[in-house]
Amino acid sequence: MIELQNLEKKYVNETSGETFYAVKDLSLVFPDGKITALLGPSGCGKTTTLRMINRLTEPTGGKILLDGQDIMAQRPEDLRRQIGYVIQQIGLFPHLSVLQNVATVPDLLGRPKAQTRERARELLELVGLEPGQFGGKHPHELSGGQAQRVGVARALAADPPVLLMDEPFGALDPLARDKLQEAFLDIQRRLQKTIVLVTHDIDEALRLGDRVALLNAGELAQFGTPNDLVRHP
Ligand code: ADP
Ligand code: ADP
Repeated sequence: MIELQNLEKKYVNETSGETFYAVKDLSLVFPDGKITALLGPSGCGKTTTLRMINRLTEPTGGKILLDGQDIMAQRPEDLRRQIGYVIQQIGLFPHLSVLQNVATVPDLLGRPKAQTRERARELLELVGLEPGQFGGKHPHELSGGQAQRVGVARALAADPPVLLMDEPFGALDPLARDKLQEAFLDIQRRLQKTIVLVTHDIDEALRLGDRVALLNAGELAQFGTPNDLVRHP
């Protein structure tokens, strides 16, 4: 479980010199094994919140607990093992094949090679890419949707209990997005990861989120199940 306690990030506006809150007094729980959608318009603090959870950005106030432990007290490499990060600009390694891209992290973690290859194939299958057809391709030979699928498979390959996903279905055509979302829900039913899914798309939040946290100007405006939000908008 991830718990944000009065989390805060202040920035200084470079033109006006004024301080503003990208994230303000944010207290929120992301339950284990569930998808929590972090929803809100552009600039409301979603990405900043994600980046604070994996320590790419330092909070100016408050605390983040992972399974009850302050993340600031954990070694960054331990944290990275527990938290996977999927962003829209997936940054696949261009000189590696699809299969090698998916296997990179487990290889680095020193897992047995044969097992890692087998699992990479399973994961490709899981995200809807036929391993025999796609495993040997290079990123430049993939469509945007296929590349995003590889990005999801690669994040899953390290088998982190927590996945932070920043607009993972953005920039896809509607059909590709529907298919990848379907595959994603199917995977999640089996793997039961603790997922924080950033999106500005309310339909996506309601469709994929077990919980939805609505942010407005860095502050929590609403939190509940999709049903709660639809009934009490
Ligand atoms: P969202 O992901 O919801 O679009 P962000 O978390 O990216 O929002 O940004 C929240 C606010 O913080 C925005 O006003 C943005 O301009 C500002 N911001 C984000 N990163 C920085 C930064 N490194 N320096 C200054 N301001 C920033
Ligand atoms: P066990 O044999 O008890 O399952 P392992 O050491 O094989 O223990 O696996 C521990 C965890 O690491 C499991 O959650 C498993 O899914 C994951 N894991 C094992 N092998 C790999 C691999 N090659 N790539 C990614 N994750 C792996």
